[in-house]
Amino acid sequence: PTILAIESSCDETSASVIQNGHVLSNIVATQAIHEQYGGVVPELASRAHQQNIIPVVAQALQKANIAKSELDAVAFTRGPGLLGALLVGCSFAKSFALGLEIPLIEVNHMKAHILAHFIEAPRPAFPFLCLTVSGGHTQIVLVRSHLDMQVLGQTTDDAVGEAFDKSAKLLGLPYPGGPLLDKKAAAGDPNRFQFPIVNMEGYDFSFSGIKTSILNFVKKNSAADPEFVQHNLADICASIQSALIQTLMKKLVLAAKEQGIKEIAIAGGVSANSGLRATLQDYSKRYGWNVYLPAFQYCTDNAAMIAMAAHYQFLAGDFTDQYASPDPRLKV
Ligand code: ATP
Ligand code: MG
Ligand code: FE
Repeated sequence: PTILAIESSCDETSASVIQNGHVLSNIVATQAIHEQYGGVVPELASRAHQQNIIPVVAQALQKANIAKSELDAVAFTRGPGLLGALLVGCSFAKSFALGLEIPLIEVNHMKAHILAHFIEAPRPAFPFLCLTVSGGHTQIVLVRSHLDMQVLGQTTDDAVGEAFDKSAKLLGLPYPGGPLLDKKAAAGDPNRFQFPIVNMEGYDFSFSGIKTSILNFVKKNSAADPEFVQHNLADICASIQSALIQTLMKKLVLAAKEQGIKEIAIAGGVSANSGLRATLQDYSKRYGWNVYLPAFQYCTDNAAMIAMAAHYQFLAGDFTDQYASPDPRLKV
């Protein structure tokens, strides 16, 4: 099947065309407007989606060299995400399906992050474990098939992406801080400073404590030396990144051991983190894991992953109708 997919859950407006499981195009418009506010402003995100969606879809079709008449279905992100942002993609897809008289497919954004692994080889074998780490979620998911997934553990408070962004903000780095913190950390010593590695029960995570600890650390050291953060930025970033990664890895190791699974994937925006990627490669040797790291373009939000999910849903006959509506809190 040939499917047009639309992603609009947060601050990227994206469209992709997939044909028989091959991604032909993946256009991503990242909204720059939020930078000046230090975070995503929901109402501004919706308005930017409205402005972007027609040109982004047009580009995706053009790049794929596919005419609207060739489409067999149109897919959209149903959730989770910002309601106003999701509404733009949902409404657009519904109108598109109605106008072309083709079926409509609603996709779960978090499942799609995981299914991004099926866009290109190497593809994980079932069953595998996926550590999904993004701006809004932190989950260990048992993936039994393309459509059968079970969350084994998740964060009880902040997502790890949020922890990266908030830590960066406390260090005075501009938004979005995660990728910047990663860059600064590259030249730093991860063992120079100690930040808490919270060990929750079972497979769950907690990341809210690290903010307070960083805040206190910055306050205490800046009182003695106002330029402390500036002068030690690389070491501070490397130490924070290391604590966040170790918190994640503790539970991933436990889950892999208890579930008896050595096929290990990571997904979501934070899977772009160079420290996390290097740690996974290291653990693959230590524990005999086969690790799967998504290509950078498929880590953060994109419509290609929505298209990949839609492809499998199409094959399974999983369609929705004109009564479809977004669900900001949609679960895996
Ligand atoms: P969700 O998928 O949970 O709904 P989202 O769609 O906003 O949330 P993604 O686009 O998947 O999240 O990921 C964005 C997050 O990834 C941000 O928190 C960002 O800081 C983080 N991120 C991106 N690159 C890196 C990196 N190299 N290191 C650390 N964090 C990163
Ligand atoms: Mg984003
Ligand atoms: Fe996402």
